[in-house]
Parts: sequence; structure tokens; C-alpha cells
Amino acid sequence: MDKKFDVIIVGTGAAGLYAALNFPESVNILLVSKRELQLSNSSLAQGGVACVLDTVHDSYKLHITDTLIAGKYKNTLSAVEKLVTEGPSDVLKIKDLGVDFDLNEDGTMCKTLEAGHSRNRIVHHKDSTGKAIVDGLIAKVTQLKNVTVCDNALVYAIDKVLNGFYISILRNGEKLHYGCNYCLLATGGIGRVYKYTTNSAIATGDGIAFAYMLGARIKNLSRIQFHPTAFAADHGRERFLISEAVRGEGAVLLNCNGERFASNYDSRGELAPRDVVS
Ligand SMILES: Cc1cc2nc3c(=O)[nH]c(=O)nc-3n(C[C@H](O)[C@H](O)[C@H](O)COP(=O)(O)OP(=O)(O)OC[C@H]3O[C@@H](n4cnc5c(N)ncnc54)[C@H](O)[C@@H]3O)c2cc1C
Repeated sequence: MDKKFDVIIVGTGAAGLYAALNFPESVNILLVSKRELQLSNSSLAQGGVACVLDTVHDSYKLHITDTLIAGKYKNTLSAVEKLVTEGPSDVLKIKDLGVDFDLNEDGTMCKTLEAGHSRNRIVHHKDSTGKAIVDGLIAKVTQLKNVTVCDNALVYAIDKVLNGFYISILRNGEKLHYGCNYCLLATGGIGRVYKYTTNSAIATGDGIAFAYMLGARIKNLSRIQFHPTAFAADHGRERFLISEAVRGEGAVLLNCNGERFASNYDSRGELAPRDVVS
């Protein structure tokens, strides 16, 4: 074994970076990314983060209800409650850590509307919120003395051993082996298993596979979210996402005859939840 850490975090998207920042500095952490630190779905997120910061015009109850409606009431209620009630303090925390959100003249955060939300509650940085979050968190994480960052390093095996895990990594053609007491899988989604996707090249579900091989039960694998709008380029060029916030700000969907059609299927029209619009 090359070295032992208290915690190994696999993934440097918003989840992995933010987790690293929340451990006490006495905890020795290895943070691993299979490509460059910035290459993740987190960096691609455009529209922003949904959170209730204004309890006069909005409420946790409304945000919970909107989330349950969008999830067709199949959501795990305790997870939705946690997301809605803890999210705002996390957003304020990452703002304090230096993430640059768009602000109104009075210093409050600008909020826009997105499909499925009954209130303007999406805080953002222009149309590149994810990049602003990742850049801000990377700047902080790389200053921490207790965090060792290992990029362009593919975790290819995780084995359970006494008192922890044995992590095998391929980096520049070399095999590295690290031990840890705890391993946190923050490896993101699986969008890249589909032919057409706006997901980053790294989104191949590695963490789900590792968890499964370590004995975790995996559920709801069929619940994949399809984003309705992407830029369809010819000649094999990567598709990129046209943010929902564009519809929130008034853009409409037209068919090949130039006619609006979304409200033929749902009274919420272009602002119905993603599964309906897709
Ligand atoms: C185009 C697009 C737009 C989006 N817009 C929004 C939005 O506006 N608002 C919103 O809330 N959400 C949005 N999302 C969703 C959001 O970006 C993701 O839910 C979120 O960023 C996931 O963060 P994550 O840290 O879990 O994973 P990711 O950001 O995908 O990070 C995964 C990390 O795991 C690493 N990794 C994976 N496998 C391995 C391995 N085997 N070895 C080593 N490292 C590995 C990767 O290198 C990467 O660092 C959008 C997603 C996309 C694709």
C-alpha cells in the first residue's frame, strides 16, 4: 500500500469538493478525480441552485410541495425535507467560501424561475453557476493542508478490508494503492450510458457499480431524468444543454411548423416539470 488516509473521497464535483471542506482539519483526506478537477457534471450546470432564501414570498412548505409534484410523489419525503431545509444554509456557506452568485443592488441574491417551481427561487451566477461553484470550491480545497488532491486518477477497484477500504487507482499508466478508514463515493450520475446526452464524459456510473460490488442495494435505477432541451448540432458535435432558466425567463418551444405546442399537453406549458416537457 502506497499510503493510508482517514478518508478517501472519489469525485471532485460539487458533492466531493463540498464534503472535503466540511471535514475538520484533523482528518487526513485524499480527493480523487478521474480527469481534470474541473471536468464534471457540476461544472456544466447552468441554471442555478433552487433554495428558499426569502421566507416572505416563498416557504419550505411550497418548495417541498413543488418537489413532490415534480417527483410524482415517489420522492423519499425525508430526503426532500432535508434538501429543502438544509439547502439554503449550504448555499449561504458556499457564498461565504467565495462562490460568486449574481446579486441585486441591495446585496441580496438574484432569483429566477425554473420549470416545476412555483416561485422565483433559483440563485445563479450568470448562465454558468456550476462552473462558478466548482471554481470557488476548488480554490478553497486546494488551500487545505489536510487534503491531498489526485487528478487524472481513475479509481478502478475498491475492496473492503479490515477497518476500511483498499482503493486501487490508475494514474499516468501507473497503479497506485491507498488505504482509508472511510470511502465517500461522490462519482455523480450515469448520463453517458445513453447515446444522446448533455452529461460530462465522466458520468459513467462508476460509483454505483463500486457500491453494488461492495454489497449495497441499488434502487430506482430506472428513474433517469431527461432534460428536455439541448442544442442539436450536426456532424457529431457534443450536444450542450439549453437551460430551463431560458424558459423560466419567457422562451417558448416551437414545433417544426413554428407553432407552440407544450400547453396542448399540460396547462403549465413550457414550465411543466422536466419529465412532462421531455
Ligand atoms: C448540462 C447539465 C446542466 C445541469 N444544470 C443544473 C442546474 O442548473 N441546477 C442543478 O441543480 N443541477 C444541474 N445539473 C445537475 C447537477 O450538475 C448534478 O446533479 C451535480 O453537479 C452532480 O454533482 P456530483 O458532485 O454528484 O457529480 P459530478 O459533478 O458529476 O462529479 C463526479 C466526479 O466523480 C469523479 N469520478 C467519477 N468516476 C470516477 C472514478 N472511477 N475514479 C475517479 N473519479 C471518478 C469525476 O471525475 C468527477 O470529479 C446539470 C447537469 C448537467 C449535465
